[in-house]
Amino acid sequence: MKALNLIVHAVMVLFLTIISQLGGIAWLAARFLPKHRFSGFLAFYVVLSAGAVFIAPMTGRVPLACIASESDAATSPFFCALNRQYVTPDLKAVLTDLSKDMQTAHPDTQIRVLDAGFPFLSGFPLLPHLSHDDGKKADIALFYRNARGAYLPGRTRSPIGYFAFEQGPTECESRPMSLRWDLDALQPIWADWTLDESRTRHALELLSSDPRIDRLFLEPHLKDRMDITSSKVRFQGCRAARHDDHIHIQVR
Ligand SMILES: [Zn+2]
Repeated sequence: MKALNLIVHAVMVLFLTIISQLGGIAWLAARFLPKHRFSGFLAFYVVLSAGAVFIAPMTGRVPLACIASESDAATSPFFCALNRQYVTPDLKAVLTDLSKDMQTAHPDTQIRVLDAGFPFLSGFPLLPHLSHDDGKKADIALFYRNARGAYLPGRTRSPIGYFAFEQGPTECESRPMSLRWDLDALQPIWADWTLDESRTRHALELLSSDPRIDRLFLEPHLKDRMDITSSKVRFQGCRAARHDDHIHIQVR
């Protein structure tokens, strides 16, 4: 029974570390409390996550805003609750400039950041995004319009912003063991909104002409549809996640 207990706690530590980096430490610390261990875990987690907001900038990562606004790029409370909103100061500056430039061309635009990075350690991947391991990468949502053609500031077709794919031709075959998930069964569930092509195209143009950007990942059919020719906008390959539900941004 003791061995089973140990395995359950080891799995919890591993799982919480994988999804939030700091959750495993909080779980482990709460094991030393004589009682109220679950509330203890929550309290430790909140303290560690709040502490990271102040300590991470000393080690090279800064948090993005967690609440959407027109004045700056922001991720969502969901990603912030899991400590997934950290980037390098350079990437934060790119996202802030993108937000301002988009506001100039298309007032009321909101840049919605999805998964970015964890607060600490280089080489610690933010799964399932293997490359998000140094604060230099972040994903941003595409831009959408409702059935009446009105732009929907900061809104995404799926609740977390991923997995609502723009469909188009691809050379990739469906492979069960790859990270390229088509999730066909989920597609009819998502909001029936259309891509805001002018905003999406303008964001891609701004980002690809920014010298601080190393590369962007986008599905080839979307690159063609947006009429983008920059060599910085690349295909991630058939083994990685699809990039026709978001844009992957990577700074130098
Ligand atoms: Zn990414």
